[in-house]
Amino acid sequence: MSIRNAKDYIQSIRNLNLNVYMFGEKIKSPVDHPIIIPSLNAVALTHDLALDPMYEDLMTTKSHLTGEKINFYNHIFQSTDDLVQKVKRQRMLGQKTACCFQRCVGQDGMNAVYSVAFEVDKKYKTNYFENIVKFVKYVQKEDIVVDGAMTDVKGDRGLSPSQQADPDLYLHVVERTENGIIVNGCKAHQTGICNSQEVLCMPTIAMKPEDKDYAISFAVPTNTPGITIIYGRQSCDTRKLEGSEIDVGNSMFGGQEGLVVFDHVFVPNERIFLDGETEFVIPLVERFSGHHRPSYACKCGVSDVLIGAAGLAADYNGVARASHVRDKLIEMTHLNETMFACALACSYEGVETPSGAYLIDLLLANVCKQNVTRFPYEISRLAEDLAGGIMVTQPSEKDLRSKEIGHYVKKYLKGVESVPTEHRMRIMRLIENLTLGTGAVGYRTESLHGAGSPQAQRIMIARLGNLEHKKRLAKVIAKIDADEAEPDKE
Ligand SMILES: Cc1cc2nc3c(=O)[nH]c(=O)nc-3n(C[C@H](O)[C@H](O)[C@H](O)COP(=O)(O)OP(=O)(O)OC[C@H]3O[C@@H](n4cnc5c(N)ncnc54)[C@H](O)[C@@H]3O)c2cc1C
Repeated sequence: MSIRNAKDYIQSIRNLNLNVYMFGEKIKSPVDHPIIIPSLNAVALTHDLALDPMYEDLMTTKSHLTGEKINFYNHIFQSTDDLVQKVKRQRMLGQKTACCFQRCVGQDGMNAVYSVAFEVDKKYKTNYFENIVKFVKYVQKEDIVVDGAMTDVKGDRGLSPSQQADPDLYLHVVERTENGIIVNGCKAHQTGICNSQEVLCMPTIAMKPEDKDYAISFAVPTNTPGITIIYGRQSCDTRKLEGSEIDVGNSMFGGQEGLVVFDHVFVPNERIFLDGETEFVIPLVERFSGHHRPSYACKCGVSDVLIGAAGLAADYNGVARASHVRDKLIEMTHLNETMFACALACSYEGVETPSGAYLIDLLLANVCKQNVTRFPYEISRLAEDLAGGIMVTQPSEKDLRSKEIGHYVKKYLKGVESVPTEHRMRIMRLIENLTLGTGAVGYRTESLHGAGSPQAQRIMIARLGNLEHKKRLAKVIAKIDADEAEPDKE
C-alpha cells in the first residue's frame, strides 16, 4: 500500500491507542473525541484527495527511492517543480479545509533531515543518511503521517540548552545503550501530533560543543512508551462539545496542537539521524524552517475562504457595491496574492543540495514568511470590518432554533431580504472562527509564530540580504572609488 485512503488512515490512528490528555483527563479514544474529530477530518482529506483523479497532480508523485506512486506529503523534493507543487497543494488544501491540515511540518522536516544527514555522513562517516532513507521509504510505503517536532519548550530563552536550570527543557540524550539512546524533554505546539503515526524530532536552536547531548534528531512512533501528549486548548474549542454546527463556524475541519512529553523514550540506533554533531544543527534548523516558510501558502487558501466570506457578508449586508467595500476586498486579494507570489518565487529559485534533494531559495522563503506574519492580520482586520459587529455579538444557534425567541432572531438578524438569516449567521460565525476562534490559531497565531517568530526571519534576511554587495553597486553608480572610500583601509 503506498496511498492510504481516509478510512484506513483513521483506523491506523485508532490502533495507536495514543496516550493523550485533555482537560486533565486521559482520553479513551482520541479519534472519537468531538474536539479532535475536525482535525482528524482535515488530515483524512489529505488521504482521500490523493486518491481522487481530480487532485492527483497536486497530491501524488513518483517516489525517487522506490519508483512507486506515493502521497506527495511523503516525497523528498527532486526539482523546483516539486517545490512549486508543494506550494500549490498547500493553497488548494487551505481552500478546502479553511484550517491547518497538519501534514507539511513532517514533510519539511524529512526533507531537511535528508539533505543534512547526507552531509554529516560525508564528514563523519556516520550512517544517518541510510537511516533517513530507510525511514522515508517506510513512510512512503505505509503512507505515514509524520509530526515534525522542532520547537522545544526552551525555558529561559536567554540561556543555551545545557545552561538551563532544568536539563529537560530541551530534548536530550540521558542514556546511551548498545542499541540506541534514551531521551528526555518536551516539544511544544506540536501540530497534528494525535493524528500522526510517527514523530520526527529535530533540535531547535544553534548549539555549542557543550550542548552535544541536545544535538539530536530521530523518529519514533507516536505511541512509543514514555510519550505523553497534552492536548492544546484553542479559543472557543468547547463549542465543539455543544452539538451546534453554526456556532462552531467551521464544523467539518480544524487544526490541532499539543505538548509532547518524552520521559525516558528509547530510540533505536537505526532511527537516529543526528547525534552530537553540533555544527550541523544550524543547517538543519535553517533548511527545515526554509522549507516550512513557503508551506504557509496554506494561509493563502484559508485567506481565499475568508475573502469569500467577507464578500458574502458584504452581499448579505447589502453593501457589496459600495466603493470602499470593493476596495477592501481588492486589498485583501492583493495581500494574499503577494504571500502566494513569494512562496512560488522561493520555490522556482530552489537549488539542488549535495544529497540530490532540492532546497528553496532561503532569502525569498524568509521574505515570504515575514509577509505571512503580517498579512493575515490585515486581511482579518478587513474581514471583521466588512462583517460588522454582529460577527461577535450574534445569539447562538440554539436561540435561532428556539420556539419562543427564534422568530426574533430570524427577524432582527436579517440583512438583505433575499438571503435567509441563517445564511448570514453562518457566514458571520465562519469569519469569527477564522479571526478569533479555533480557526484563528492556524490563520493568525500560527502565521506569526509557526516556522519561527518574525525576528527569526529578520535575522536570516539580514544574513542573506548581502548589504555589502548592494553598497558596492551604489559606489559603482556614484563613481566612488571602492578602495579609497573604505575607511578601514585608509
Ligand atoms: C499554531 C502553532 C503551530 C505550531 N506548530 C509547530 C509544529 O508542528 N512543530 C514545531 O516544532 N513547532 C511548531 N510551532 C512552534 C513555532 O515554531 C514557535 O512558536 C516559534 O518558533 C516561536 O517559539 P515560541 O513559541 O517558543 O516563542 P518564543 O521563542 O518564546 O518567542 C516569543 C518572543 O520572544 C522572542 N525571543 C525568543 N527567544 C529569544 C532570544 N533568545 N533573544 C531575543 N528574543 C527572543 C521571539 O522573537 C518572540 O518575539 C507552532 C506554533 C504555533 C503557534
